[in-house]
Amino acid sequence: MKKTIILLALLMATTMQAQQIKVYLNAGHGSWGPNDRPMPTIPYPMLPETGRPDTCGFYESNTNLWKTLECGTRLKRNGNFKVKYSRTKNGPYPYREGASNEFRYNRSLSEISAEVDTWGADMFLSIHSNATSEGALVNYPLFLYRGTDAEDYAANSKAMCQKIWPRLTEAMHADFEPMTHYQSSTNIRGDIDFYHSSWTNDKGITGYLGVLHHLSPGFLSEGFFHTYQPSRHRALNKDWCRQEGIRYYRGILDYFNVNTDSLGCIMGQLHSRKKSSDLELFAAISGSLDEYMPANGITVRLKDNNGEIVDTYETDQNYNGIFVFYDLRPGRYYIEMKGEGFRTRQGKVNATTVKAKTTTYKSIFMIDGESTPFDDETGIEGVSSSQSTPQNIYDLSGRRVTTPRKGIYIIDGKKIAF
Ligand SMILES: [Zn+2]
Repeated sequence: MKKTIILLALLMATTMQAQQIKVYLNAGHGSWGPNDRPMPTIPYPMLPETGRPDTCGFYESNTNLWKTLECGTRLKRNGNFKVKYSRTKNGPYPYREGASNEFRYNRSLSEISAEVDTWGADMFLSIHSNATSEGALVNYPLFLYRGTDAEDYAANSKAMCQKIWPRLTEAMHADFEPMTHYQSSTNIRGDIDFYHSSWTNDKGITGYLGVLHHLSPGFLSEGFFHTYQPSRHRALNKDWCRQEGIRYYRGILDYFNVNTDSLGCIMGQLHSRKKSSDLELFAAISGSLDEYMPANGITVRLKDNNGEIVDTYETDQNYNGIFVFYDLRPGRYYIEMKGEGFRTRQGKVNATTVKAKTTTYKSIFMIDGESTPFDDETGIEGVSSSQSTPQNIYDLSGRRVTTPRKGIYIIDGKKIAF
């Protein structure tokens, strides 16, 4: 009996293994060298000694890797997928041209495409961002598969693009970031027609992009334009990149008809009412939220419908105002904020609904004013008329108060929020 159960378990395990969908993920580029699209941002300028920022600055290789690892981690956790990465690291640092380890993570495209076929991937995805002239007010995605516009040479590549496109563009369609073209269409192209060129490798595979010279269906995604400066500052935020990875992941679930993700996320961005036009390296698309200053260093708290704190996030100092809360049970949440120079917002504010397998996008304007602690940080939350009320309470104009309502009061010389 025992033997039969073990055998049965083994058999089930092998069957599950056999059913696993193999996804090959290629994070574009891979060193901190000049071909990794280094570009300046406000906090991380180009260094005079290298002409590149330090490794915290914008390199496409960093952002591609964050997106890719998030997508792959979730696919693996899902259980229906097997994942192979072309790389899981960046580097080496410092980059030295001609060094023996120069291409350790920046592998040749022919080597990668050969590996895709050797492994027998059911799907291939190469993750990049796009570029045009620096500071151009252009932002939209591009998916490229091997073939012509009329025909995908690896069957189903086009179908994958069409299924995943709506997922990738969710943030743009939610006006979370501007989308200058293709709002009501798609930008899915055959690489041969896009580049007006093609070549055939030693295995007889014809296409344009080296990394697509394999037989597995799939595509290369240029998720956004990193030459659009406000988006480049967003890309400095790892969680913003991870959210792009999650959108690919959800698109892949859609394509393979796997619906097992019961949780959702919130991605928000905070702005002040001040215009961003004084910032260097921040040319904003007119009519977009990028025309306003992103709010750095703001404490954001997520509360559930019962008022319990679910998570806390601090927006970074990189001029994006991004905050992200992951893997939330569907339901209603509230977003509290406090930060220097802004009025603290707390309680049932910024109501947000989370749905399964979805990210809710939330853009919030901060209100100029005095920052005060969150109620529960004052240590006197819950004081009611039945409890002893502190003596010597004054309002901000110095008037003595006997029954404090909600607001800021001075008690024993200290400002306290009720
Ligand atoms: Zn690239």
